[in-house]
Amino acid sequence: MKIVYCGDVVGRAGRDAVLHNLPLMREKYKADVIIVNVENAAHGFGVTPGIAREFLERGADLLTTGNHVWQQRDIIPFLDENKRIIRPLNYPDSAPGRGFAEFELLNGKKILIDCGLQQGKDEHDGNTLDFAPNYIDYVLITHAHIDHSGRLPLLVKEGFNGRILTTGLTAQLLSVMLRDSAHIQEGDANWHNQKGKRAGLPPVEPLYTLMDAEEAIQMLETVEYGWLFDLCEGVKVRFTDAGHLLGSSCVEIWATENGVTKKIVFSGDLGNEAQPIIRDPSFVDEADYVVMESTYGDRNHEPPESYAGALADLIDEVFAKGGNIVIPSFAVGRTQELLYYLREIKRDGLVQSLPSFKVYVDSPLASEATKIYSGNLKGYLDDDAIAVIQGGENLFTFPGLTLTQSTEESRALNDDKTPKIIISASGMCDAGRIRHHLKHNLW
Ligand SMILES: [Zn+2]
Repeated sequence: MKIVYCGDVVGRAGRDAVLHNLPLMREKYKADVIIVNVENAAHGFGVTPGIAREFLERGADLLTTGNHVWQQRDIIPFLDENKRIIRPLNYPDSAPGRGFAEFELLNGKKILIDCGLQQGKDEHDGNTLDFAPNYIDYVLITHAHIDHSGRLPLLVKEGFNGRILTTGLTAQLLSVMLRDSAHIQEGDANWHNQKGKRAGLPPVEPLYTLMDAEEAIQMLETVEYGWLFDLCEGVKVRFTDAGHLLGSSCVEIWATENGVTKKIVFSGDLGNEAQPIIRDPSFVDEADYVVMESTYGDRNHEPPESYAGALADLIDEVFAKGGNIVIPSFAVGRTQELLYYLREIKRDGLVQSLPSFKVYVDSPLASEATKIYSGNLKGYLDDDAIAVIQGGENLFTFPGLTLTQSTEESRALNDDKTPKIIISASGMCDAGRIRHHLKHNLW
C-alpha cells in the first residue's frame, strides 16, 4: 500500500497548485491513499469547510490539520463528520516534539497512542496535559524515546488509572528512561527553587517525581510483536517491529463499529533498513487509515553502510596526534550502535596507532541502557547480531571499555591524558556530562 502525504498547503497559490495536481497525483505516484495537510489552505491561517470539501472532491482521502487548528474551529465538525481528519489531541498548541495522537471509538473508549515529553527547555512549558487523564482508557506506547513516552508519569500523577501497553523491551527501556527523566525534572525544580529563593519567588514543583515514574513503570503491561489481541470490545490490536529502536513498534488497530471494521495504523518512528543490531521494519500490508511520522519525509535515505572503516581511520588519525575523541550520543540506541562498531574495530585491529585504546561511556542512562541491550533480546535482534552472540561474543563489551557511574569518575577523565574515546550524552550537547567534556577538550 502506498500513501502520499502532501505537506503544508499554504495560502491561495499553494491551494490552487495542490487542487490542480491532486487528480494527477494518484496516477503519477501510484498512491492508494493521499493525505493533505490543509491547516493553512485559506488566506493566512485556517481552512474553511468549503475548501476542505474541494480537497476531498479533487481526490484527497484524508486531511490533516496541525498547529493552527484552534483558529479553525468551524472546520472541525465538518471534517469529523466526514471522518476524514487526523488532528493533534491537545490543540490549541500542538508543539512539535511531543508525539501523540488520540482517537475515540463509538463505544466511548478512548485510546491514546504515545504520550511524549518536549525536552530541552522549561519542562512546564507546553508539557501540561490539556485533557483530564481519566478521559483516556488505554495508552499504547510505540517506543521508549522520551518524545513518545516522557509524560506517562505525569499522566499517572494526575490520576490516570487505565491500562498502558507496550512491548516487553520497550517496558524495560522505559524503566530506566522514565526514572532518568524524573531525575531531570526533580533536578531542574531544585535548581529553579534555589535561584528563586534568593529572588523571593515561591517554590515550583517538578513536573513529576521519581515516585510518579515508579508508579507509571508499575502500570506497564507488555505484549510481543505479532500478538493479535482484544484491547476492548470491538478493538483488536497488534504491535509490529518498526525497526527504529530495540522494542519499537507500529501499532495496528482494527476497530469494529456498527458491524463495519476499519483498520488504522500508527507508524510510530520508523527505522531504516539494514541498520546494525535491530531488525528491518516489518511491512504493514493494508490499512484504511495510516497515521505516520514524517521526520525525514523529504529525503530518500541510501541504505546505511557499515561505518566501522571510516570511524577507525578517524580514530587512528586523532590518536596519532595524541588527541581525545568526544562523541555526543543519544543514550539509548545510538550509544549501543557505536559500541557495536567499536567492538568490531578492536576485534579487527583497525586502529594501528593505539590498538588497545580505551573507551568510556560516560552517561548513567547510556550505561543502564547498555545493560538492557546486553540482556535477553530474543525476538528483537537482527540475524547478524544473533550470529555474533552465537559466536560467543557480547555485542557491546570489549577489552578497554568502561561504563562510568559517579560524577567523580566522570571528572577524573579530564585529568587522564592518555588518548581515549568518550561517549557521552546528551546527543544534542544541550545537557548532561557531554558539556564538560567538550569544554575540557576544546578549550
Ligand atoms: Zn524515536
